[in-house]
Amino acid sequence: MNVYDSDQKISRNFTLGEFYSTSPDAPESHYLDGKLIDAWQYLRDNYGVTHITSTLRTPQHNSSVGGVKNSQHLIGKAVDAVVKDHDRLIYDLTGGQELSDHLIYKYGIRGIGVYDNFVHLDTRNVKVEHVTRWDNRVEKIGITGTLTSFGTDEDGVLNAWGFRYYVLVALGLIIYLTRK
Ligand SMILES: [Zn+2]
Repeated sequence: MNVYDSDQKISRNFTLGEFYSTSPDAPESHYLDGKLIDAWQYLRDNYGVTHITSTLRTPQHNSSVGGVKNSQHLIGKAVDAVVKDHDRLIYDLTGGQELSDHLIYKYGIRGIGVYDNFVHLDTRNVKVEHVTRWDNRVEKIGITGTLTSFGTDEDGVLNAWGFRYYVLVALGLIIYLTRK
């Protein structure tokens, strides 16, 4: 991708500029996995106007936004976005397998993360049986049954919310045990 072609259409609804790195120190051109553009176009077709919020991040930008060290955003293999019908998208991604399977098998998505106000998709270099999914929504944490992990981030490392949850459980257990 080249910053000078930012008005160029790269799918039915998206321009290249929308997928271009927003890092303050972004290079003039960078790689981005085209599978992510196709996947987000598919979601846009089904869930409405889509605002791309994060694509390639430079190492400096990644650490300033608290991204994990080996984030797929660093290598142009992750795109975060929010769709118009965010709640329905989250419902479909957490309440059943159909949409996730479509993204995984048709579009080559290998990482799916849901958050309160956006969704993360990545094409990490793993086999299909090692797809990583996580639910980092603050208020729903721990109650979605279909995700394989919760309270973890892109790379499976416990994030702040997951950590707080486990600390609370541990504290509750200690209080319970010491009261006896
Ligand atoms: Zn992301």
